[in-house]
Amino acid sequence: MNDIINEIKRLKEETGTVILAHTYQNPEIIEIADITGDSFALAKKSLALGAKKVIMCGVRFMAESVKILSPETEVILPVPEATCPMAEMISPERVREYKKNNPEAVVVAYINTTAALKAECDVCVTSSSALKIVEKLDAPEILFIPDKNLGSFVKEKFPEKNIVLWDGYCPVHATLTEDDILKAKSEHPEALLAVHPECEKDVVKHADMAGSTAEIIDFALTSEKPVIIGTERGVADYLIPKYPEKKLYHLCPEKLVCKDMKYTTPENILLALKGEGGEKIELPDELIKKAKHSIDEMLRLG
Ligand code: SF4
Repeated sequence: MNDIINEIKRLKEETGTVILAHTYQNPEIIEIADITGDSFALAKKSLALGAKKVIMCGVRFMAESVKILSPETEVILPVPEATCPMAEMISPERVREYKKNNPEAVVVAYINTTAALKAECDVCVTSSSALKIVEKLDAPEILFIPDKNLGSFVKEKFPEKNIVLWDGYCPVHATLTEDDILKAKSEHPEALLAVHPECEKDVVKHADMAGSTAEIIDFALTSEKPVIIGTERGVADYLIPKYPEKKLYHLCPEKLVCKDMKYTTPENILLALKGEGGEKIELPDELIKKAKHSIDEMLRLG
């Protein structure tokens, strides 16, 4: 394995490639990466770096987001099969149909959507900016796609708004049940619970904080009390050995596994660096322009 890591480092330097890794990747990928973070943070950092070539260790919509923000950058997804099931739980055609029938409505898309969906919506949100942005929207109806759990988290905060939820969900976070939470709390009664708002309402209601992956990490590292980490297990897998002085606990590690996020291996990255593997993300200019408009709106309102 050391040979592979050394070869990756050498080729990275030689080709001026930047390796981005989502925080749900396996710890060995996080170690190889130049930058880690959640999906939109990675796209923004890549833009700021102005890298010629980027390898995005994550799922397809994340690589697309990098391409939308940095169209001139060559963006490689090392494992083309790595997709987010939730990002495709509504089709662009359904959004177009909805807008035709509801011309006054505003369509809000979670950043975890394909580029084709971003191009059809009015504004994107991340899990950390969703509340701030929806609060500012003034429309007779708001369609929130695709995650009904994040959508319901937002809807609860604004009962005066007419928010329609799409029936999508993250198949990883949505597997957690209230019983899982009660069990974890009884095992670690002294700990605070941090969860991702992609979890079901019955789970989120027991949490001491609900927020994006970056917010959960920040909460875990700054809390004076122990913390149970309620998001994809990669986060706890990385933080627990790295910060042994902190009392951090997994929450249902057997359930909180995103298999698509785990496809990437150092071998895939090496092949992508050599130009012998992975997929170069290609998006039509018009699609990039439309999708970027939704992201620009997110930045303007957030
Ligand atoms: S954890 Fe859920 S939302 Fe994130 S990539 Fe996996 S399936 Fe998609």
